Amino acid sequence: MEDSYRHRGLRKRLVQTVKDKGINDEAVLAALMKVPRHFFFDNAFLEHAYQDKAFPIGQGQTISQPYTVAFQTMLLKVKPGSKILEIGTGSGYQACILLELGAKVFTIEYNKVLYEQTRKFLPEIGYRPVFKYGDGSLGWPLHAPYDGIVVTAGAPVVPQTLKEQLTIGGMLVIPIGNTERQRMVKITRLDETEFKTEAFDHFAFVPLLGKEGWRK
Ligand code: SAM
Repeated sequence: MEDSYRHRGLRKRLVQTVKDKGINDEAVLAALMKVPRHFFFDNAFLEHAYQDKAFPIGQGQTISQPYTVAFQTMLLKVKPGSKILEIGTGSGYQACILLELGAKVFTIEYNKVLYEQTRKFLPEIGYRPVFKYGDGSLGWPLHAPYDGIVVTAGAPVVPQTLKEQLTIGGMLVIPIGNTERQRMVKITRLDETEFKTEAFDHFAFVPLLGKEGWRK
């Protein structure tokens, strides 16, 4: 796979677009510049890779819009060494952005075909999160607590189990709403029992399935 001068030029333009839409976290923008998004696209769809749009990745799922990935990542305030759980591996693009920020990334996917594909593909392009197949709406207690949890599918409510898997000071970023439209919500754990909730713009994610999601 080639990351040519032309690809980098297209990516630079995409990063500028994301910046113009309000992403002002330089580390996040630098991570977007580093990950070759066209690697996640079939050659026939190359021109779509550097548009600020979500795109189908098969199995009725999508690679998230770069702005959305940047927005969720910015809210997480990832630092080098942060332990981050991603729910909804999908194409693996968001996991790569988190890895570029120096996070230790744990990622769960509920769709077996996508899980198999991405688990094989990411190491081939040099990215190594810890993968799991299963229902991420329950988190991943084995490796908890996490400094950040990012849910990349729309949930009906905030799963209590995810809140309980945060460190004190840890943040959960999750789109909450119906299956068409969700509000981005950030929950920060203040201490053992107290949490702060902040709400941001609306987005449109595919539904979170599973026990704490819309079920299957
Ligand atoms: N983060 C992905 C990326 O960078 O390409 C985008 C993910 S896509 C918008 C949402 C993903 O969440 C889909 O791959 C879907 O199969 C997955 N998903 C839905 N419910 C899930 C669950 N309960 N646990 C884990 N993954 C789930």
